[in-house]
Amino acid sequence: MFKDVGPVAETARIMNIHEYQGKALFAEHGVLVQSGVHATSVEEAIAGWEELESNLVAVKCQIHAGGRGKGSLHEPQSKEIVLQGGVQLARSKDEVESLASKMLGNILVTKQTGASGKRVQNLYIEAGCDIANEYYLALLVDREKKSLLIMASTEGGMEIEEVAANTPEKINKIWVDPSAGLLGFQIGELARSLGLSKTASRSFAGMIRSLYNLFISKDCSMIEINPLVRTNDDVIVALDAKVSFDGNAAFRHPDIFEELRDLSEEEETEILADEAGLSYVKLDGDIGCLVNGAGLAMATMDVIKLYGGEPANFLDVGGGADEQQVKTAFSIIMGDQNVKGILINIFGGIMRCDIIARGVISATEELGLTVPLVVRLSGTNFEQGRKILAASTLNIHTVETLAEGAQRIVELIGGEE
Ligand code: GDP
Ligand code: MG
Repeated sequence: MFKDVGPVAETARIMNIHEYQGKALFAEHGVLVQSGVHATSVEEAIAGWEELESNLVAVKCQIHAGGRGKGSLHEPQSKEIVLQGGVQLARSKDEVESLASKMLGNILVTKQTGASGKRVQNLYIEAGCDIANEYYLALLVDREKKSLLIMASTEGGMEIEEVAANTPEKINKIWVDPSAGLLGFQIGELARSLGLSKTASRSFAGMIRSLYNLFISKDCSMIEINPLVRTNDDVIVALDAKVSFDGNAAFRHPDIFEELRDLSEEEETEILADEAGLSYVKLDGDIGCLVNGAGLAMATMDVIKLYGGEPANFLDVGGGADEQQVKTAFSIIMGDQNVKGILINIFGGIMRCDIIARGVISATEELGLTVPLVVRLSGTNFEQGRKILAASTLNIHTVETLAEGAQRIVELIGGEE
């Protein structure tokens, strides 16, 4: 949700960027990275190899998901694996060419992408690095402690969730009070926990200060570097970069939210909803919900669950939606293949129930209605809204209360199985 659209903007959303973009930000803010070149074609990847003049490069798939190193690539039409590992080392132009052509346009499946994977449309060709040691470092917001949390671990390159589960003592955490800022002794503690030498500690201190400044000045929600490495010269370099931003700060950073956003990495329906000024999050259940107000949307989801159903989405059309927005909202819900039934729950205030009804009618006129629809309208203009729905030829179940509505939709979809 990256537009300032009143109540919608209050819904917490984050925006992810690619590793190569994160590293460009790192470099701008004084965080050491290897030099690298972004490529979207095999030719550009080869040009990258030539430009870097390094006898070893890493060829890295760029997708908005981690675990690329251990992921596997397959062609869009066939499940046969063409390449094991979405991060590869190359020692010649030919190797770069062959790797790039196996990566670009193909699907990378990692632990974080789910089975459907992500299409690789961007590569990063990066100068190789002589690694002496790998570490883990992350900065994030700890909402409960109202502080910035920094986590460092000697277990770099590993999955941090596993480290946290099996050997939590290997993750050192410090909390930074934003009004005091990052203090010298805290940096010292982190460096000691990584067992760094004096030279390496100095390099680390410079890096962590730069990262902290970047985090604050750009309203990040997370910076994760795995691995952070120590080179043989005791210099600390960020070898990976996962950076995300708090969507509520979008208006402050058009440079980031407009220029670095990669729409092809985001859920299509969520983009559509975003453009229509709706707050929509797709979920795994089968009951589509159309509600006005985030609180009412949450309550609706809870009540659906109470009666044994599973919501297919969170959708808040907001207070001031017009007929067109309601139509888009309804179309998005109907476009979800998992949806077996829809519950509309509107408490009209500024939002008028007749507008909701008209939006629903115009969406169904175009797309038809193939699943049961339960509607509960109350508040402003609810009689008009009900009349409009009743006058249509659609098979709509009107109910008086939310509890009734939830029960009814659960029954209706249950009966179909
Ligand atoms: P992720 O799997 O998505 O987290 O991708 P990473 O950027 O972390 O890359 C995976 C792994 O590749 C890292 O953990 C490193 O061990 C390795 N790697 C990445 N770049 C280089 C490099 O320049 N040299 C060497 N030797 N290894 C690298
Ligand atoms: Mg990594």
